[in-house]
Amino acid sequence: MKLAVLTSGGDSAGMNAVVRAVVKAGILQGCETWVVREGYEGLVRGNQADEHQDAILPPPPPEVRVKDVNFLKNLRFGDGALLKDGTGDLPSGRTLKGRYIVRVGWDDVRGWLTEGGTLIGTARCKSFRTPEGRTAAAYNMIKEGIDALVVCGGDGSLTGADVLRSEWPKIVGTLREQGKISEEQYKLHGHLKIVGLVGSIDNDMSMTDLTIGAPTALHRICEALDNINSTAISHSRAFVIEVMGRHCGWLALLAGLSSGADFIFIPESPPETNPWEDEMCAKIQRHRHMGKRKTIVIVAEGAVDKELQPIRAEYVKDVLSERLGLDTRVTTLGHTQRGGKPCALDRIWPTLQGIEAVKALLEATPQTPSYMIGMCENKITRIPLMEAVAATQAVATALQQKDFAKAMSLRDPEFVDSLEGFFATSGLDKEGRLPKEQRMRVAIMHIGAPAGGMNAATRAITRYCYRQGHTPIAVQNGFLGLLDDSVYELSWLTVDNWMARGGSELGTNRTLPDVDLGAVAAKFQQHRIDGLIMIGGFEAFTSLLILEQGRKHYPAFHIPMTHLPATISNNVPVTQFSLGCDTSLNALLEACDSIKQSAQASRNRVFVVETQGGKCGFLATLGALGCGAVIVYTPETGISLDMLRNDVKFLKRRYELDVKGHNEGRIVIRNEASSHIYTTDMLTKMFKEEGGKLFDSRSASLGHTLQGGIPSPMDRARAVRLSLKCMAFLEEHHEVLRKQTKRQTTPNTAAVITIQGSAIKWVPVNDMVEHADMKNRTGIHGWWQDIRELVDAMVARPQIV
Ligand code: ATP
Repeated sequence: MKLAVLTSGGDSAGMNAVVRAVVKAGILQGCETWVVREGYEGLVRGNQADEHQDAILPPPPPEVRVKDVNFLKNLRFGDGALLKDGTGDLPSGRTLKGRYIVRVGWDDVRGWLTEGGTLIGTARCKSFRTPEGRTAAAYNMIKEGIDALVVCGGDGSLTGADVLRSEWPKIVGTLREQGKISEEQYKLHGHLKIVGLVGSIDNDMSMTDLTIGAPTALHRICEALDNINSTAISHSRAFVIEVMGRHCGWLALLAGLSSGADFIFIPESPPETNPWEDEMCAKIQRHRHMGKRKTIVIVAEGAVDKELQPIRAEYVKDVLSERLGLDTRVTTLGHTQRGGKPCALDRIWPTLQGIEAVKALLEATPQTPSYMIGMCENKITRIPLMEAVAATQAVATALQQKDFAKAMSLRDPEFVDSLEGFFATSGLDKEGRLPKEQRMRVAIMHIGAPAGGMNAATRAITRYCYRQGHTPIAVQNGFLGLLDDSVYELSWLTVDNWMARGGSELGTNRTLPDVDLGAVAAKFQQHRIDGLIMIGGFEAFTSLLILEQGRKHYPAFHIPMTHLPATISNNVPVTQFSLGCDTSLNALLEACDSIKQSAQASRNRVFVVETQGGKCGFLATLGALGCGAVIVYTPETGISLDMLRNDVKFLKRRYELDVKGHNEGRIVIRNEASSHIYTTDMLTKMFKEEGGKLFDSRSASLGHTLQGGIPSPMDRARAVRLSLKCMAFLEEHHEVLRKQTKRQTTPNTAAVITIQGSAIKWVPVNDMVEHADMKNRTGIHGWWQDIRELVDAMVARPQIV
């Protein structure tokens, strides 16, 4: 297959990761790989230069799996400079002048994971909308022999791709009639294979949860909001922030949720009341009366009221200034939202989606529809492209018809949950909503090591408690604090700024309740605890197990109890993602990017980076995929002498094949518990010794830096979503227990909230045990182990078979 990839429409972070993955996966599958510069414009213009400069590239290897280091020889073509630097003429004779459809090799896309935007350029192309333009595009593709196309762009770009595919047989027939292509070309190119990937910062495509670039844009917005927060508090100001999103409020909603904003305006859910100004002012007034010193209002570009009248940031500012007398400023974030380095999600998922796109193309037949590669919760999915485009357009139509309920129903469940989450945590009800007898005293504890999102979860629980009329009780310092009576009621205002706080505001430690189970039960009774939420990692899970098993002796434990997984190691069984693991992945990638820069500044250098993670290789594996590490060592696969021999050979060959005169920094990631014998120090010395004149080696241990820092927006949003589900769980079971004459819980009232594929499921803590490796404090099989092979494939690390 001759496979081309292009990026189209507005640029977004993660597009480069797509191109890199498509090129690499294509080569590994034996395809010839091409890129089209400047989106459809490049296809329409084609190659003006006559001579076929790409002929210097050798034919692609027919291998699928990398078996030995000699394979690298076949991958070598390209050197990364041609496209990265734009128009440079390279000593090899390759040039981009007059060429829009360019054959590329393995090393052409080296280092692309960390680059924002799209290195192959993007454009909006008017002529591609016309039949003549599409005919020219088809002709240029056939001229180069291309028979498969990956398009990464928004719904417009994907529509364009589908139009091209559906017209293709007709166009090819016309070209044959006009004598522009030969009979042989006509026969060879009767069918075009197309796959779409959604690159768009707005997250506006239906039937996929996350579009490529949306998470990074959210990172940029939250960074800005975190900065604005401190100045807003200092001056007691109000800020109205305008964010992108003409037809979709995802960015505004998630930004509002993750930053703890007071009010948001999004196209899908206009304010309920008319005039909305009263509703907004009343809410903000209540917050100010409680003692809040800052006000944050987020306005999506496409925000409207119920009559579809636009709501503009400047007008919101005037309302706040005039009606409430607040010193109000407007900040329009504009194109800063598009830029910058892709976050972890925009490196990892686009890579996996790019690999899936190549698979889909190889499996495509004239009968199969064109697919869009999407995401459903945490699963990569294939959706018929036009179904997704039609569903996306249905949202726009519903909005035009003022059918907001329909527009919401067409958004994914996470969007709906997030909106409910925002309302539940941003408001302030004078009286709780539940009748007195249904109200609970809810204890919140942080257990184990700190993880990003613990404080955000505590804030969400506290705010929800106030809305319903429950009493949120903070237990400081885990079970030791409980035994010391470090227990207090959290106020609505105390938690106001906790969304963006790293670490653990409640304090946390690893002591388990069996330190004195009887005394723990007595404290539950003394503080009249009706429901418990423990936020933490493996220790929190173990604590829940101990408390459940203690129920036979202690009636105080006959209350609903939950564990909300929060750990940077992501080692809680069953659940695919814990709070904190996205934050630590981002911290790891940031550190690796800097280390890599330093590694290649003076000479060829391999850095062995040690990560935390205990006996769980999640962080190391996903980190390696996200930073393009050449080697990853995890506890699940361990380290053997054969492996090291293989890796030394691989590194030597890799450096031998590099372009002379360029320094290359490479990263090896080693999880701290991968081996007792082959330590980080030992590996570093070994690579240094074996590297000889080819490369040097150094080590860096990231240690606790991965636990700290500002929680990522994804961890904050996930914290709110899961916390509110924990509260619903407590309320449901509390209600059942309340009606019993003798309070007697069943085992399912002590459960862990887990993310499994596209669903959030409760698993009774007793059932979790069969999926746990209690000795090594991790799950029995982590889903990331299945993508380990892809991590190696993306860098052509030979497998030991
Ligand atoms: P974004 O979400 O960033 O706006 P987009 O892909 O939706 O991205 P558009 O400007 O709508 O951006 O489309 C990009 C390009 O795709 C257009 O410039 C045009 O070349 C092509 N295109 C869009 N719609 C069609 C169509 N109906 N037929 C043919 N080509 C189209």
